[in-house]
Amino acid sequence: MRVTGRWIDSMGKNGRMPGKFGTVYDAEIAAKEFLAKYPTVVRVSISHETGGHVIDVKRSCQVCGGQNDVQVMPDPFTEAQEPEATDHDSMSLCPSCATARFEES
Ligand SMILES: [Zn+2]
Repeated sequence: MRVTGRWIDSMGKNGRMPGKFGTVYDAEIAAKEFLAKYPTVVRVSISHETGGHVIDVKRSCQVCGGQNDVQVMPDPFTEAQEPEATDHDSMSLCPSCATARFEES
């Protein structure tokens, strides 16, 4: 059984994730690496070549682990403290954690 993934980005663009995988687990690991590498990709859909769609791998919020509307953004904490700086770390955050981090600053 071959497993493949298709990615979709925040603009609705999509394509095939490189590689074929022996198991859904291997494909999930590859999808998480793919999400980490390409910040605009919001989701990778994993399918069995014969069995069809299995699971969507989404970006997780690095604070709460939630997956709703998670976006990659410059760290809201340092951005609030140093708005002029351009070298903020990028973070994957859901809207409520992004707001909380901004308000902590
Ligand atoms: Zn969160």
